[in-house]
Amino acid sequence: MDLIDPLEQALHAARALVLADLAAGAVAEADVVSLVEDSVVQRRWWVEQWPEGAEYVAGLVAQDVQDALLERYGRWPLCPVCGAGDPHALEVEPELGPDPHWVCHQAGVKVAAVGTLGPATGGMTSS
Ligand SMILES: [Zn+2]
Repeated sequence: MDLIDPLEQALHAARALVLADLAAGAVAEADVVSLVEDSVVQRRWWVEQWPEGAEYVAGLVAQDVQDALLERYGRWPLCPVCGAGDPHALEVEPELGPDPHWVCHQAGVKVAAVGTLGPATGGMTSS
């Protein structure tokens, strides 16, 4: 009797991935976590209408939280690749697809998969 709903599984995974990236940027405060919860609630409705979209949920939640943070706090996540110039945020690619990544359009690079921003930015020390 312990069947795990694949949609719930996708939503839980998306939540965990985005929270990990928020923690990497040290912005996982209580009210920020609630932004993630709000997005998960909305995307639960969305994915119930369109179950094939389950693997897109992580990228969508990341974009929802990014938009919500832009209104309240500013750009997130800041690009860790470009040392010079104006600070700018990474963007999720694909916007609607599986296996979402954070990319910097200015440098034209994939920075990290959604959920792995911490290791990606923490591991960039030069030797
Ligand atoms: Zn950049």
